[in-house]
Amino acid sequence: MLNSLKGLGVTLKTMLRKPVTAQYPKEHLPVNRRYMGFPALTWDFQVQEPYCVGCMVCIRNCPTQCMTATLKDNPLHKEGKSTRRKIVDIFEVNLGRCILCEICVEVCNFDAIVMSHEHELSKYERNGNRVDLQALLEMGKQYQEDTGWEPEQAAAPKEGVQA
Ligand code: SF4
Ligand code: SF4
Repeated sequence: MLNSLKGLGVTLKTMLRKPVTAQYPKEHLPVNRRYMGFPALTWDFQVQEPYCVGCMVCIRNCPTQCMTATLKDNPLHKEGKSTRRKIVDIFEVNLGRCILCEICVEVCNFDAIVMSHEHELSKYERNGNRVDLQALLEMGKQYQEDTGWEPEQAAAPKEGVQA
């Protein structure tokens, strides 16, 4: 009898407990701050340009070779508004091939790339997740806004590293 009452108590307690699940895709649960979604490029709001200088270090180190980029002379540097002599021109990541390993983030000397919280990009086409510079920057801005992200190295690049 006592055990039955105990069992009933557990059942009632569980019934009154707030649900820990959500009706996806109508509802979305917040992701943890350290959650690693797809890589994204960060935006320098002070200078109004990407942090990425197109140095190719991340591209050379990506194990799945899913990234490409080109750089160009930075017009804002010529105007004296930016310390970056070069700036990214084209950047593309095939997120369908990205394995979310974070190596690109680890090797970047300019805090230009982060593992964002973006994770809902399913497509029907095999190559449907090729994202360009603009899309990567939008994902980065969203991540910066959501997390209050601040650069750690951009103000003082590692010794021997020049933008
Ligand atoms: S390593 Fe950083 S600065 Fe260099 S291309 Fe990659 S994201 Fe841009
Ligand atoms: S997370 Fe890994 S696989 Fe994805 S782009 Fe970066 S280095 Fe490449």
